[in-house]
Amino acid sequence: ANLPVFSGQNPVFIPGPTNIPDRLRYAMSIQTTDHRAPDFVELLGPLLGDLRKVFKTATGEVITFPASGTGGWEAAITNTLSPGDKVLVARYGMFSHRWIDMCQRHNLDVEVIECEWGCGAPADRFGERLAADTDHAIKAVLVTHNETATGVVSDVGAVRRAMDAAGHPAMLYVDCVSSLASMDFRMDEWGVDLAVTGSQKGFMLATGMAIVGVSRRAMEATRTATCPRCFFDFRDMGGANAKGGFPYTPPLQIMYGLRESLKMLLDEGLDEVFARHHRIAEGVREAIRAWGLSLCAKSPDLYSDTVSCVYVPEGFDSNLLTNHAFDTYGVSFGVGLGPMSGKAFRIGHLGSLTDVMALSGIATIEMAMKDLGYPIRLGSGVAAAQEYYRATAGATRKAA
Ligand code: PLP
Repeated sequence: ANLPVFSGQNPVFIPGPTNIPDRLRYAMSIQTTDHRAPDFVELLGPLLGDLRKVFKTATGEVITFPASGTGGWEAAITNTLSPGDKVLVARYGMFSHRWIDMCQRHNLDVEVIECEWGCGAPADRFGERLAADTDHAIKAVLVTHNETATGVVSDVGAVRRAMDAAGHPAMLYVDCVSSLASMDFRMDEWGVDLAVTGSQKGFMLATGMAIVGVSRRAMEATRTATCPRCFFDFRDMGGANAKGGFPYTPPLQIMYGLRESLKMLLDEGLDEVFARHHRIAEGVREAIRAWGLSLCAKSPDLYSDTVSCVYVPEGFDSNLLTNHAFDTYGVSFGVGLGPMSGKAFRIGHLGSLTDVMALSGIATIEMAMKDLGYPIRLGSGVAAAQEYYRATAGATRKAA
């Protein structure tokens, strides 16, 4: 009954869409302008240029579509592959699973490496499989950089090294939906051919824009790829963009938001943005440790700085916990997805978030757990996070 009062007052702790800073809400609140007017290029050109900085690509280009991240996946696949093409992909969470499903529905020949959820992309197993593929039937390797369902970040550079060591020419496709603009991502250095994200995570905007980094090689592949595409055609979009336009109506409000978001991110500095995410995530992890709960991510090198997936103790239902936190305190946390449903909840800590905001989320889920009889001591997680944030506060002040 109190929810309308809470609405918009409390931050969300879901791993995207993320909290939208007022500055970006204002930037998106603009009157319609004409996307066919000569000045549209003044908005579009710098946007695409700045996006390349965030992807860390000097040689690739960035293509955007009115869509969510899933549309970006579809664009990446259909523009560069043909039905029957073999792709190699590991399943270690709900999003890698959904990418596999999409490839299958596009009639690709999908070879799946099954991994326990909580693990990351298995660079060594990719390497072994690629080395055995001597006639180079595998056209693409697909990696989910940050598996949002399990809170696991994968080492994309290691996958690239494994591909190179196998001397294999497959292209590398990376889902960076919940990592780009929050955690380090290096499109050129890691030899990523297609990098897919959306507007509603690290960019802190409304949902509605798919953003895809495309290497020269991937753009070249569009010439021979025969998967059907129309709305998501890279060459239609790239061609129109090159002339300063869009092949159809662009999501103008999001584009104005993105202009401001890129300014915020680049003014803060990407390294500082990543450091801020890491620090906030560490505080959340300190709290989880203090509660005596465990993360789904199997080892510290896999800990994601944008989302933590936390197992609830035996005999408790994580869905009741997230519902209770929402109903009672008006705060959203991520539910457990797929096989994690009921077993784990997720704390999203990406985008527009401060240590003080993170403390409110930690305090809230702590209250909710206490309400439901979890064996935790009220204040224990908050105190652990407070200690960490106090001890590291100078770092933020310096960055700010
Ligand atoms: N990939 C990952 C890692 C995600 O976290 C998500 C969404 O949460 C998606 C893909 C799908 O993106 P969207 O919901 O924007 O279509």
